[in-house]
Amino acid sequence: MRIAMIGTGYVGLVSGACFADFGHEVCCIDKDAGKIDGLNHGKMPIWEPGLEALVKSNAERRRLTFTTDLTDGVKGAEAVFIAVGTPARRGDGHADLTFVFQAVRELAKVIKPGTVVVTKSTVPVGTGDQIEKILREEDVIDVSVASNPEFLREGAAIADFKHPDRIVVGAEDQRAQDVLKEIYRPLFLNRAPILFTGRRTAELTKYAANAFLAVKISFINEIADLCEAVDADVQEVARGIGLDNRIGPKFLHAGPGYGGSCFPKDTLALLQTADAAGIDQRIVRTTVAVNDERKAAMADRVVRALGGEVAGKRVGVLGLAFKPNTDDMRDAPSIPLINGLIDRGAEVAAFDPVAREQAEKVFEGITFAADAYGAAESADALVIVTEWDEFRALDLDKLAAAMRGKTLIDLRNVYSREEAQEAGLTYSGVGRGKL
Ligand code: NAD
Repeated sequence: MRIAMIGTGYVGLVSGACFADFGHEVCCIDKDAGKIDGLNHGKMPIWEPGLEALVKSNAERRRLTFTTDLTDGVKGAEAVFIAVGTPARRGDGHADLTFVFQAVRELAKVIKPGTVVVTKSTVPVGTGDQIEKILREEDVIDVSVASNPEFLREGAAIADFKHPDRIVVGAEDQRAQDVLKEIYRPLFLNRAPILFTGRRTAELTKYAANAFLAVKISFINEIADLCEAVDADVQEVARGIGLDNRIGPKFLHAGPGYGGSCFPKDTLALLQTADAAGIDQRIVRTTVAVNDERKAAMADRVVRALGGEVAGKRVGVLGLAFKPNTDDMRDAPSIPLINGLIDRGAEVAAFDPVAREQAEKVFEGITFAADAYGAAESADALVIVTEWDEFRALDLDKLAAAMRGKTLIDLRNVYSREEAQEAGLTYSGVGRGKL
């Protein structure tokens, strides 16, 4: 099939490359000329494991092309996916649909009858209806509009796309269903469950999924706080409950609060949808508040571990990206933590295996180290913020020797108190007994 992908970011590029790998002919479109030029020269705009090889092999076979020209890009396409950003609108947290509607208006000028327009961007309930209305206003006839929310995780995006837990397709007509079934046929043959639903249901399913995962994280974070007060270990509690099939072990890792490009904005957007519908979502509302407070409190946790004062002290930070295996800094917990420390007069030296370039755009007044030991150099405290694999097997003796102080604050519970103590470090984890 011929597919056009409008928006070549994390979702558009990964989806486009995977569709091409299924054997479809895909054109990825983006208005960011630098991004498209880079891709046409084999340069990836994001860091995602396996992406470069996948893009290159499909681009070499001419199954995957890149352009800034929407007219050119959608020529002959049977399906046009929209994968542009839907950030939180400043002030109210509503999903900002400016990019989506802009793309639809541009598309309306060139789209041919019989095409299926598919939103892959995360969009509030009713956006498909609004897209149809715009197309009608622009005198576009005989075009289907479907919703196909994306559930991939950054850092494991290609595997997630090729081996999804499920594919959700919200379609209001047979043509949209048939075209999407054909596009996903290789996964269908692999027995990936495909759920056909109404369009509004598909749109809401994506928000409900992210909100539920956010609730799970905030739940275990609050249990971690309780563990610290009553001298229990949250990791053992998480294992104890996670082995129950009804609960499951995933998303039960206590830490500095969730961040990233999806959970913070999608929970807020869900609340906006609920407000507009007059239905309060108290659990999600509380989750958002719990998480915001938690992220803001992480700097204080470091200050406490350093005896109540960080002015003039040096803090090493390991990991900046919002999670491992990505360079995405959007809403990363490292941001309020580091800014909070700098505001209190600390010096910060940070290291992240891949996010430095993105982090340089976010932080002012911090230094970047070349590796974990460089970040520990002369530090009064070292904070593990992102659980990159390479931070799981650090030489703690070497770290302790490089540091000036001896405080290890492990916000991801990567190490045990005992192994840190053996290296002469004072250990502070999350939810692991009395602080
Ligand atoms: P992104 O910011 O990485 O990419 C969006 C791209 O769209 C940018 O390159 C931008 O230049 C381009 N764009 C904007 N308007 C355009 C237009 N009119 N024409 C052409 N290109 C245009 O965003 P992302 O992280 O890929 O997210 C895209 C959508 O997918 C969002 O709705 C997001 O919520 C959803 N989503 C993201 C993830 C994730 O892990 N990042 C996972 C699932 C769903």
